[in-house]
Amino acid sequence: MNDCLFCKIIAGEIPSRKVYEDEFVYAFCDINPIAPIHYLFIPKQHISGASEITPENAEIVGKIFTAIAKVAADENLGSGFRVVTNCGEDAGQTVGHLHFHLLAGTAMGWTVQAGV
Ligand code: 5GP
Ligand code: ZN
Repeated sequence: MNDCLFCKIIAGEIPSRKVYEDEFVYAFCDINPIAPIHYLFIPKQHISGASEITPENAEIVGKIFTAIAKVAADENLGSGFRVVTNCGEDAGQTVGHLHFHLLAGTAMGWTVQAGV
């Protein structure tokens, strides 16, 4: 866990541009945004990804989505936003600490390149 990039961001060992924080959730600007608004919402508790959500820790997901709704209201994202979590290699997860991308500020398409 000590080697986890997002745990270091929560601890303040790596700087970030905070957009929201409470007892359980931290949110900050993505360093490499793919939309005009691109924030990352993470649990303060280390969970390695969506595949590691269990009945014991699932409550944090509701807390994260509550934080997302609050930020969306505060920032007037009424025209729409998208929440994405990548889990595992095929999905392109690059940081092994559960995170939800909040994307907004533009109309978005919906495609996945796949062999189907
Ligand atoms: P993933 O690819 O795992 O779904 O998302 C990881 C995200 O973390 C990427 O969008 C990437 O730009 C972002 N990221 C990686 N390193 C840092 C960092 O040091 N600071 C911030 N703010 N974002 C980061
Ligand atoms: Zn972590």
